[in-house]
Amino acid sequence: MTIAANLGYPRIGPKRELKTALEAFWAGKLGEAELQSTAAALRAGARAVQQGSGISHVPSADFALYDHVLETVCAFGLVPPGYGWSGEGPVSLATMFALARGARGRAAERAAGIPGDAVALEMTKWFDTNYHYVVPRLSAAMRPRLLDDRWTRALREGLQHGTRTRPVLLGPISLLLLSKTEDGTRPLDLLPAMLPAYADALRFLAEAGAVWVQVDEPCLVTDLPSGAEDAYRTAFRALAEAAPGLNLLLTTYFEGLRDNLQLAASLPVAGLHVDLVRAPGQLPAVLEALPRDRWLSLGVVDGRNVWRTDLRAALAQLRAAEAAGFGKRLMVAPSCSLLHVPHSLAMETALDPALKRRLAFANEKLKEVAVLARAVDEAEKAVAAAFEESDRALAEARADERLHDAGLAARLAAVAPEMERRTSSYPTRAAAQAARLGLPELPVTSIGSWPQTAEVRSLRARLARGELDKASYDAEMERMIAEAVRWQEEIGVDVLVHGEFERNDMVKYFGEQLAGYAFTKHGWVQSYGSRCVAPPIIWADVSRPKPMTVRWSAYAQSLTDKPMKGMLTGPVTMLQWSFVRTDIPRETVCRQIALAIRDEVADLEAAGIPIVQIDEPAFREGLPLRKADRDDYLRWAVACFRLSASPVRDETQIHTHMCYSEFNDIIESIAAMDADVISIETARSNMELLDAFAVFDYPNEIGPGVWDIHSPRVPSAEEMARLAARAAERIPRRRLWLNPDCGCKTCGWAEVKPAMANLVAAARQLRARAV
Ligand code: GLN
Ligand code: ZN
Repeated sequence: MTIAANLGYPRIGPKRELKTALEAFWAGKLGEAELQSTAAALRAGARAVQQGSGISHVPSADFALYDHVLETVCAFGLVPPGYGWSGEGPVSLATMFALARGARGRAAERAAGIPGDAVALEMTKWFDTNYHYVVPRLSAAMRPRLLDDRWTRALREGLQHGTRTRPVLLGPISLLLLSKTEDGTRPLDLLPAMLPAYADALRFLAEAGAVWVQVDEPCLVTDLPSGAEDAYRTAFRALAEAAPGLNLLLTTYFEGLRDNLQLAASLPVAGLHVDLVRAPGQLPAVLEALPRDRWLSLGVVDGRNVWRTDLRAALAQLRAAEAAGFGKRLMVAPSCSLLHVPHSLAMETALDPALKRRLAFANEKLKEVAVLARAVDEAEKAVAAAFEESDRALAEARADERLHDAGLAARLAAVAPEMERRTSSYPTRAAAQAARLGLPELPVTSIGSWPQTAEVRSLRARLARGELDKASYDAEMERMIAEAVRWQEEIGVDVLVHGEFERNDMVKYFGEQLAGYAFTKHGWVQSYGSRCVAPPIIWADVSRPKPMTVRWSAYAQSLTDKPMKGMLTGPVTMLQWSFVRTDIPRETVCRQIALAIRDEVADLEAAGIPIVQIDEPAFREGLPLRKADRDDYLRWAVACFRLSASPVRDETQIHTHMCYSEFNDIIESIAAMDADVISIETARSNMELLDAFAVFDYPNEIGPGVWDIHSPRVPSAEEMARLAARAAERIPRRRLWLNPDCGCKTCGWAEVKPAMANLVAAARQLRARAV
């Protein structure tokens, strides 16, 4: 019988119950037992929904209070010193949360012996998703062992409620490859020490009655470092021997296996899961490579996007696997864990009904999986209604004239190469801008936002509730802008910003004003820990009905003779932080957004704004997982940025901002964006991140952040001057700017005011020194 399986379910809860409970726990308002019982209730709810949808392989241990990588690390005792763990016995919740979030000197931390200054482990994006995992910090001195058998516990929890779940383990090779080591050891060197701990976990699962165990090895879809192939063989031989009766499902997702297919197909496991949404073309090769005694799990329902599945196309793939001899060993599944999509469409009562019919969130996707499994076994007739619904939704989408904007298509087709180029090259522009702006050496600016205080947020909430009319709201915004302008002038900032008080979120603010975007009410997806985002849905052609920011920037400019910087979110970031339609290429969607931003840039210029910043914090995270695919992405991403940035005259200055500067591998593309000025993050690394700029001669101007706005500390003028002087060792002084690392939206005025004043003082100190 074809098995309907799931790989992982959203954890945060349909009403973000986990977020609420975690934040109450951290605030000391909820006890550990209550937190755990909320978590248990969420898991029970998840099992019920999955079973009720017809899923027979329901995952367990996919749940985590904060992050599954972190929980794996704690379960195996891979905890660095300095977080209150004695090295023996289970790792406490206090230690786990200190690893995730750093310590704050709270009572619970003091009681657990955690130093008040313990800093959080690094966090980074889980492959190419918007989910962040806590990066394990390993050392050769660690003694991995199974301290907390979270997998058997999860299995037992299901069994007690009558469900034999399929526990999920993050595989040993992916765990190591996703880790950092401190002492020069290579992560894979730790494998021999790790394997006995994994073997124990599997043995205990077998003893407790597990039949299938899902071993996630997403690193198999990446370019493997040397030694990884052998490590995979060694590891899986050991895992297979540890519990011979257990069926291991080797799970890969987010890309095709490509050159790692032979390796994956040769490992001694009971089954292999492949992602056929990202890489549908890999099916024939997989069918050829995989021995016929293995189970094949096909990920045909998109776990990364919100669209309903084309059931007929998915069934054709399943039938191909059946015809190739996997008919008795077939599983149907989402492409990856459903962690990356919202819980359920049921609560979305305000969405356009036609759009809603085309969508499927986690709960709806589970039903699709179950329908497909039945369709394989009992023929389509058995599930005719579901197939008809899928057909109807697809046909309706194809016929929906609102999806396509003929005028926009013509405009895109007519984009000439010179529209992606500024009129003159940087040196000519720089001269024109210097003449117009008259800025001092080492100009001081900021990244755009000033604190979104409780006052700002409450104004927005009152406007949304109808307690405040639009005119009064706008007047309040103007008052705040005017205050911010006066303060920046007073302390001597050179390039001012209006402060972005009117913006809730840098994507949402623009998306709400663009055609083609839709917003959910409850479409929350976990970003990290208790933090969630509700990405907008790009469902139709994107265009700009009218100017979006000109009113605020022009008002701010009218208050001062200093240059005011207009502030926009770039096309790549607008794309990257949304759920994107799949009926046209991502590149096309991005070009549509680029045209909309381009029009806004032109309007800002026409309104007398001399400087426009186009933020692209998501530029780097759009990079494909495989190196071979990167050039193509970089080509169109750079082109889209340039299309948005190039309608202006030489004397109008274009800035961009990115919240990082790990540019080594893409520095040439960053340069190709040809922004006049780029501001980046470097304060935390003490300017070390500027190394790329020492090797590659970045041709335009740079503002390396000299104030880490994520730290509550106010840096002194001397400290910022020292950082800027270090930057000047790598970047010629005449092309250097002084600014914070990132926007100040989440800061308080109490830090921002002195820090900005110190920043101006730092610039003055440096200008006085003739280095
Ligand atoms: N201009 C935005 C701000 O200042 C940039 C935000 C970001 O880099 N993520 O908030
Ligand atoms: Zn930033």
